[in-house]
Amino acid sequence: MGHEGIGLIEEVGEAVANFKKGDRVLISCVTSCGRCSYCKKQLYAHCQDGGWILGHKINGTQAEYVRIPHADNSLYLAPSGVDDAALLMLSDILPTGFEIGVLSGQVKPGDTIAIIGAGPIGMATLLTSKFYAPARTFMVDLDDSRLETAKRFGATDLVNSGREKAVDRILSMTDGVGVDVAIEAVGIPATFDICQKIIKPGGHIANVGVHGKSVELHLEELWIKNITLTTGLVSTYSTPMLLNTVKSKTIAPEQLVTHRFKMNDMLKAYEVFANASKEKSMKVLISAE
Ligand SMILES: [Zn+2]
Repeated sequence: MGHEGIGLIEEVGEAVANFKKGDRVLISCVTSCGRCSYCKKQLYAHCQDGGWILGHKINGTQAEYVRIPHADNSLYLAPSGVDDAALLMLSDILPTGFEIGVLSGQVKPGDTIAIIGAGPIGMATLLTSKFYAPARTFMVDLDDSRLETAKRFGATDLVNSGREKAVDRILSMTDGVGVDVAIEAVGIPATFDICQKIIKPGGHIANVGVHGKSVELHLEELWIKNITLTTGLVSTYSTPMLLNTVKSKTIAPEQLVTHRFKMNDMLKAYEVFANASKEKSMKVLISAE
């Protein structure tokens, strides 16, 4: 299990040229061979000998030791002075929020955007949307403490969709026209529906959430609005750039880590993670030593 991690190199295989024993590294959630046709297009998510395999098709990172295939293309040397919590956010959630939310949604300076879901992915989207200076950011969630966190991270308008109708509130606060970019960061029909009802003509809906059920797509209303709808699995091509922003402290993703556990307290860590609302947990860091 596990597709996020920071590690110390213990041993390298014959094919590895870029790393040596003792290197501190960031482990990308996506494995890339660097040679196949998808990798050549930076679509590492679909690497023919990789993609999302860690903790999915092969043993993952929640262990004392983990083997990383195609290490030269799937690991990044950790810059000194950057703490583990910040780095860990670069394994998956930061590139996911940035690539599938912010870049696919084409957030631009001065835009009004809405992020539906203030969980880790929604927060990562919020943090990385700041690179493009949107004028106004609506954050929608059911949990007040998560909304408060979003406010600290720069959301300008908080909407608790348990207490009020998110669609009505956002439309009334945008003169009835809606938002330039609506980013879905939950993965259920109700949150996708909010996005399609608040999107402005010419706007972008970027679906980041992983859906387990089909959603109703209202093309009869969307077609005339000239909207763009995007979705996908992260490729992590933005990781080197995000590493620079973390190193320079342009963004501080370590704020997303709310709990830390040792590996022998793994079950407790899962309990905290499962009861996120009660425990006020966002990301949980587990260390092997
Ligand atoms: Zn490949």
